[in-house]
Amino acid sequence: MADTGSSIGRWRERALRLMRRGSERADVRPVPASSAPLEPTRLVDWPVVLTALPDAAVLLSPQTVVLEFNTKAAELFPQLQAGVAISAVSRDPELLAGLSQIRGGASQLSVSVNQRVPVERSLLASLSRLPGSGDVLVLLRDLSETTRIEQMRKDFVANASHELRTPLASIIGFIETLQGPAKNDPSAREKFLSVMSGQAQRMKRLVDDLMSLSRIEMRTHLMPRDEVDLNGILDDLRQSMEPLAAQETVRLTITGRDRPAVVQGDRDELVQVFQNLIHNAIRYGRAGGNVTVRIDAAPEARRLSVHVTDDGPGIAPHHLPRLTERFYRVDVAASRKKEGTGLGLAIAKHVVTRHRGELEIRSELGKGSTFTVVLPEVGRPIPLAR
Ligand code: ADP
Repeated sequence: MADTGSSIGRWRERALRLMRRGSERADVRPVPASSAPLEPTRLVDWPVVLTALPDAAVLLSPQTVVLEFNTKAAELFPQLQAGVAISAVSRDPELLAGLSQIRGGASQLSVSVNQRVPVERSLLASLSRLPGSGDVLVLLRDLSETTRIEQMRKDFVANASHELRTPLASIIGFIETLQGPAKNDPSAREKFLSVMSGQAQRMKRLVDDLMSLSRIEMRTHLMPRDEVDLNGILDDLRQSMEPLAAQETVRLTITGRDRPAVVQGDRDELVQVFQNLIHNAIRYGRAGGNVTVRIDAAPEARRLSVHVTDDGPGIAPHHLPRLTERFYRVDVAASRKKEGTGLGLAIAKHVVTRHRGELEIRSELGKGSTFTVVLPEVGRPIPLAR
C-alpha cells in the first residue's frame, strides 16, 4: 500500500470533510460552468447513500483508504475505520487483487471473498470505480445463507430420491422375477406380490409426507385463522390410535381435558402434529408401557402446552437438536421397520412454527421422552419467537 502516514491524515480530513458536507447539504451549490470540472461523486451524500444500501458497503479513496462505510460493513469487518488502508482490514487475496485491477484502470468487477473470522462466510464483492473522483465503491453481499439454503435443497432432493429409489428398485426386481424365473410359481407370486405391496405402501407414505411438508412450507408465513379446540382433536385421536396402542400393548391416557383448550389454528394440520407425536410415542416407546398426553393450560401463561410422554428407551442428547431435520432418524433400520419416513417431526415442527408456537423435546436414556407443543391461546397471541 503506497499511502504514508501523512496521506492517511489527508484522507481522514477528506473523510471528515465529506461527512460534514453530508450534514450541510444546503452548502452544496451548483458549480459555475467556467470553474473546474465537476466531480460527481463528491456531491453525493455518502453516509446517507451507504446507509440506504441493502448490502454492506465501503467507499475507498483511489489509493484504497477507507473513507466511509455502513453498519452492515462494520458487522462484517469489525476493524473497519475511516482513514485506514483496506489492506489493514482484509488480507483476502482476491479482494486485494481486484482492487489493484481497479487501480490499474478497470472500472467494475466482482470477486468472491472468503472470511474465516469472526465467523466463516463467503461474500461476493463488487468493486466499482466512480467516475470523476476515482473513489472505489465496494459492495459486499453475504452469500453464506444462500449457499446454506442451496445445500439444504440439494441434500433434500438427494435424500428424497434415495428414499424412493430403494423401494422402487425392489418392486422392479420382483416384477422381473415374476416375468421370468417365477412365472409359473403361484406360491412365489403370492409372496412377492405381498412384498411389492409393502414397498408400494412405503413409497405412498413417503410421497404423502413430502406433499404435506411442501403444502405446509408454502403457507409457513400465513397464520391460520380458525378456532380449534384441542380437546376435540385429542379425543378423536385417542379413538383412532387405540387399535395401534392395543397392538403394541401400550396404555394410552389423555389428561387435562377439564377446561376449554382453544387455539387459533388449522385443524387438519394440528391433527397431523399430535398424530405424529402419539404415533411415535407408541412405536418408539416401550412395549407394555404407557403413553400419556397431557394438556397443560395455565391461564396466566397465555399458552397451552400439550405434552406427549412415553416411558421408552429415550433418545441420546446429541440426537435431540437434529430430530426435526428432514429424514433424520436415530436408527434408520428401526424407523423403516416401524413404517417411518423420517419426516414426521419435520412436519410437526413446520406446523407448530406456522402456528407461532414451539416444539420442545426432552428425553433421558432409559427413562423415556416428552415432546411438548406450546401454542398461543386464542385471542391472546404471543409474538413469533424469531
Ligand atoms: P420417523 O418416520 O422415522 O418416525 P420422525 O421424524 O417422526 O420420523 O422421527 C425421527 C426420529 O426420531 C425417529 O426415526 C426416531 O429415531 C426418533 N424418535 C421420534 N420420536 C421418538 C420417541 N418418542 N422415542 C424415541 N425416539 C423417537
